[in-house]
Amino acid sequence: MKLKLVEDAERDEEESEQAALVLSLLKENERLQTELNAQRRNNELFMSVFNSLPDGLMIADKERSIRISNPGVTSLFGYRTEELVGQNTAMLYESLEEFEVRGKERFNLSAEEQLAPYQVQYRRKSGEVFTGETIGTPLRDSRGDLLGYLGAIRDVTQREQSHKEVAANESLLHLIANSLPELVNYLSADGTLRFVNRTAEAWYNSTREELIGLSYKEVLGLDTAIKIEPWISQALRGEKVRRHAEVTYPDGVTRYVEISYVPDIDDEGEVHGLVALVIDVSGRRRIEQELKASEGRLNDAINAMPDGFAYYDNEDRLRVFNEQYRSMYTKSAHLMAPGVTFEEVIRGGVACGQYPEATDREEAWIEKRLEAHQNPGDPIEQRLDNGRWLRIEERKTKDGGTVGIRVDITEAKRREHELERLSITDALTGLSNRRAFMDRIAQEHERVRRYGGTMSVLLIDVDHFKTINDTFGHLTGDVVLKELAEILSDVLRTPDVVCRYGGEEFAAFLPETSMGGGFSTAERLREAVEGHQFCSGNPTIDVTVSIGVTQTDQRDKRYEKALNRADQALYKAKEAGRNRVVVAPPEEMAPAAE
Ligand code: GH3
Ligand code: MG
Ligand code: MG
Repeated sequence: MKLKLVEDAERDEEESEQAALVLSLLKENERLQTELNAQRRNNELFMSVFNSLPDGLMIADKERSIRISNPGVTSLFGYRTEELVGQNTAMLYESLEEFEVRGKERFNLSAEEQLAPYQVQYRRKSGEVFTGETIGTPLRDSRGDLLGYLGAIRDVTQREQSHKEVAANESLLHLIANSLPELVNYLSADGTLRFVNRTAEAWYNSTREELIGLSYKEVLGLDTAIKIEPWISQALRGEKVRRHAEVTYPDGVTRYVEISYVPDIDDEGEVHGLVALVIDVSGRRRIEQELKASEGRLNDAINAMPDGFAYYDNEDRLRVFNEQYRSMYTKSAHLMAPGVTFEEVIRGGVACGQYPEATDREEAWIEKRLEAHQNPGDPIEQRLDNGRWLRIEERKTKDGGTVGIRVDITEAKRREHELERLSITDALTGLSNRRAFMDRIAQEHERVRRYGGTMSVLLIDVDHFKTINDTFGHLTGDVVLKELAEILSDVLRTPDVVCRYGGEEFAAFLPETSMGGGFSTAERLREAVEGHQFCSGNPTIDVTVSIGVTQTDQRDKRYEKALNRADQALYKAKEAGRNRVVVAPPEEMAPAAE
């Protein structure tokens, strides 16, 4: 039992030693595991950074064989990682020579750590060569022993290319700038010239070598400098500036120029200077001024003319017109503005009732007016609702427009109407004259012959008028004739037409009136004359008339027949003792067959 106990104790001791060992081993294992995990985490972290950098990164061993490469290398060179690992970096260089040169500089046992970039020509898997900006350096442990080499490569072909393009562009710009007739220069922010083109050399009267580095104030002189300084400041604050100015340049020539300053601003918004483009617009300005002056003169002339002037362009839109044109058309004046069409003006005027001739036939009138406007011929006389008359003369212009002149002919029209009136009026009595009467009786007779009906005709003669003249004088005779005319007008009705037929003889026709009606009217006339006190009874003048009456209808081929019958009746009245009415007897009427 004791033995067993000893044995047990010994075994226990043994077992506890073993347990301690296991325990310590376990602890060690745990520590190692933790450390390993930490390392693995670091490693993972390192790799994730390594892999996510856009640049190509690779680590090579002492023999310059690739150990690790990131996706950046794959995208730069086109090789998959498996194709690279284990291969010598020489495969990436365009030339072996360069590979060896870099080896001597960077990738050898005694090379120093260096971070300055340098450029290398590399070759992709596809064979394409590119410029890589490279940082190549040895990697050493804490004791300084060489572990391998690190290479970081960035494709800068694009950047190189754009540098080249910029250089090419710059020379192109110089070429363009120099061939421009305009003045081009570049002023840096401190106001000194950095670039001038040939025109600038000419205007500044100096060579490029003399000008570059000078301030614009030195070049242009104080007067001009004061003028342009605010604009330059404005451009140097980053604003584009465009101005016109008259400037006398060092070559002695005064030019009217258009100046454009364009600030040279970088991406950060900093202004480094400005490009000045100066165009000589003296010629243009002179032409503009001449044009303006000539337009002004034309306008003056158009406005000074008493007539209305309107120019409608080839689209028939109002372009040029004077105030007279507007003021002639009081009702459509508000429509007359540049750009309005002729038709709009006409329709507007018609809608306002401005053209009496258009009343009740608006569309037809408008159509006719537009047609006349499109194809102008003889002048048009136009009556307006305010009683005024215009004469319109329109002409086509070469460019398809229409020029129209409107003359106010109201006064001429009034005189014309007056002359017309006078030509049909008896001056002494104001009645129609014989000629007018003959026209009207002919018309009426024609109407009767065509459509039937009748009219009566009266011839009225003053009895013993010669005696009145002889007794009271010719002037009194005239007064008697005037008063007789008034009695005639009073007694006769509106449709009746009366005239002074001859010296002291009057004639009348009464439309739609048969002989009986004619007789009673004549009788009333005779009585009115007999009962009238001529010359207000001072002196007392007894005036009577004899009247011959007849009737005419379709049976009379000519109205003169009726006048003859009336004359015969009048003669009979005289013979019968005067102051009486005689009707031409029916049997004296011509038979219908005649
Ligand atoms: P009877 O009754 O036969 O008609 O006689 P009478 O004198 O009227 O006839 P006669 O035809 O001989 O005379 C007409 C006169 O009228 C003659 C002429 O001098 C006069 N006379 C004609 N025209 C005018 C006129 O405009 N003014 C004046 N005062 N007299 C006129
Ligand atoms: Mg008489
Ligand atoms: Mg007579």
